[in-house]
Amino acid sequence: MPITIPITTSIFDIFKIGPGPSSSHTIGPMKAAGAFLEKLSRLPEDQRRRIHTIDVFLYGSLSATGRGHGTHKAIVAGLLGWSPETCDADRLLRLLEVEGDQYDIHAGQSAVTVRADNIHFAGDAENLRYRNTLRFIAQGDGQTIVSGEYYSIGGGFIREKGEREKPAPVLPHPFCSMSRLRRISAEQNLPLHEILLQNEEVLCGRSRLAIEDSLDTILDTMQQAVKNGLATDGLLPGPIRLPRKAAVLYQHALTAVNSEDRFLAILNSYALAAAEENGAGRKVVTAPTSGSAGIIPAIVSLLVNHFHMDRRTLRQGFVAAAAIGLIARHNASIAGAEVGCQGEVGVASAMAAAFLAHANGTSLQQVENAAEIALEHHLGLTCDPVDGYVQIPCIERNAMGAVSAYNGYLLASIGEPLRQKISFDQVVEAMRITGAEMSSKYKETAEGGLAVCYVHC
Ligand code: SF4
Repeated sequence: MPITIPITTSIFDIFKIGPGPSSSHTIGPMKAAGAFLEKLSRLPEDQRRRIHTIDVFLYGSLSATGRGHGTHKAIVAGLLGWSPETCDADRLLRLLEVEGDQYDIHAGQSAVTVRADNIHFAGDAENLRYRNTLRFIAQGDGQTIVSGEYYSIGGGFIREKGEREKPAPVLPHPFCSMSRLRRISAEQNLPLHEILLQNEEVLCGRSRLAIEDSLDTILDTMQQAVKNGLATDGLLPGPIRLPRKAAVLYQHALTAVNSEDRFLAILNSYALAAAEENGAGRKVVTAPTSGSAGIIPAIVSLLVNHFHMDRRTLRQGFVAAAAIGLIARHNASIAGAEVGCQGEVGVASAMAAAFLAHANGTSLQQVENAAEIALEHHLGLTCDPVDGYVQIPCIERNAMGAVSAYNGYLLASIGEPLRQKISFDQVVEAMRITGAEMSSKYKETAEGGLAVCYVHC
């Protein structure tokens, strides 16, 4: 059944700057550790002084694939007070690199030492409310002084156990679906981006100019990730020893004689470049997740470098992409741990298709159709990262998602817009149902598909 509660998530909660490789396993845990540090700092000083140890227990897919995703490093970083937006991604990679590395966690005047053996990959536990659960326990004299349970619910979002829902703000254009957006647009004669931006002004309490500034920062970060990826060669970190290939493909594209090959190779290389940066744990933008962080940057780079699109139009397309991500997250999920890769790469591809369509001035119906087509053909896509690293199949899958997005845009923009029989809301519902019926082996646990075949075949 479609959810009728209006969406009150900000565009900037979908698009977050932070280190790779995983929004749910890196950014979310870092934020959870930061939230626990804040909790510690609110304790009376005498209680803080009693704390001798801090232990962190990781459950579900955080336990299964957390090592490959750098979850333990992200937790130490969060406890050190680092934030995903501003942390130095290279310093983050060096945390816990050497056996015996230890860190002083400061909450007020007291310091508690945390080492690798304070972070426990604890498998599955009974009665977990959410698969990606983190429990923090601070103890002293054999007693628990304070504890916290957090859930990493995908896309870098976290929730704390017992956390109360904030009162929903009254938005000028409440919506929870694409059909509602269509109606608002028709009744009030507003373009899609204007509906979203007017809501965003209320949601984040900032002026239009400030919102545009933040959008520009995100667009710049995305393009920088592509540039960095194209300029870097060598092996990605981890046991797979996967060679980067964006730079090689890009060079090949520049010398390709055939212009169709050149176009596709460039689009592929852009997506690979940002996805490889993510796989290397460097700075990216969740779009809507880190695992799928190559698709929208590839489209942004394409529109800037090859279509010479102006910033204003680019922002408008970007906001249309956000609308698609918000609806998918609200009515289904963008978490690989909940619905498999259809929620990550599938949704990113749909967002990118909507971006292309809106930025190229198609009708709202065609924007919706582009997103629907792109998501429809990712339905059922499982999440099976080899060795728990966001590398195989994730990186190439970003390239495929970018190409699908372009194709979705082409299929939707050429021809009669009302010809599409499936709506975007219907395909999101199909994704939700498919995800609910998918075996947990295919939800970021590295227990099925390629993850198993790579080891055993
Ligand atoms: S397979 Fe897809 S959902 Fe799973 S980690 Fe990779 S990108 Fe994310």
